[in-house]
Amino acid sequence: MKFPELKEGELLPLAEAFYTIQGEGYHSGKPAYFIRLGGCDVGCSWCDAKETWNPRLYPPTPVSEIVNEALKYPAKAIVITGGEPLTYPLDRLCILLKNEGFEIFLETSGSKSISGRFDWICLSPKKKKPPVNGMHQLASELKVIIETEDDLLWAEQNRLLVRNNCFLYLQPEWSKSKLILPVIIDYVKRNPIWNISLQTHKYMNIP
Ligand code: SF4
Repeated sequence: MKFPELKEGELLPLAEAFYTIQGEGYHSGKPAYFIRLGGCDVGCSWCDAKETWNPRLYPPTPVSEIVNEALKYPAKAIVITGGEPLTYPLDRLCILLKNEGFEIFLETSGSKSISGRFDWICLSPKKKKPPVNGMHQLASELKVIIETEDDLLWAEQNRLLVRNNCFLYLQPEWSKSKLILPVIIDYVKRNPIWNISLQTHKYMNIP
């Protein structure tokens, strides 16, 4: 999909932006300003942000405006998420955020080519649209969503492609959590290279 109206990333389809606590993965517990971009063509059945899939629903917003909003909050950590944020060139947004001294964390399925510069990349690969070549090597953190036991094999296939120092997380799919969490706990105890990531923001009842 091409988006000429976004002027090479001068504008981005902003679904929502909010200040909260990162609930998942390595930075769990850290206050951060979330920038959620609309648009994703991966189509995970359990996606908890389905409302973001259609980018046309969201106003093309100047990145300078997005950054000015972020500056209103005390934390200097930004999470860029979606949707699939790499649907768009993120260079301009990242440059402006860096100029303001933000640390930038990206949440991505890796299904599109990289753009922008990040302090941390959380790669959450999806079977329906696997990461593009080279993406695994950029990941600071690999976070695999586990819905069924079969997904553990998918996790291992992805683990073989990341760097040695990449942090490894298995995260239960929220709606199947009760069933699958005991399987994950047992697996991680037997394979301690992995850690468990929980969606703690859902337990805290925050976005
Ligand atoms: S990649 Fe992320 S945003 Fe896209 S469908 Fe899957 S869970 Fe939803």
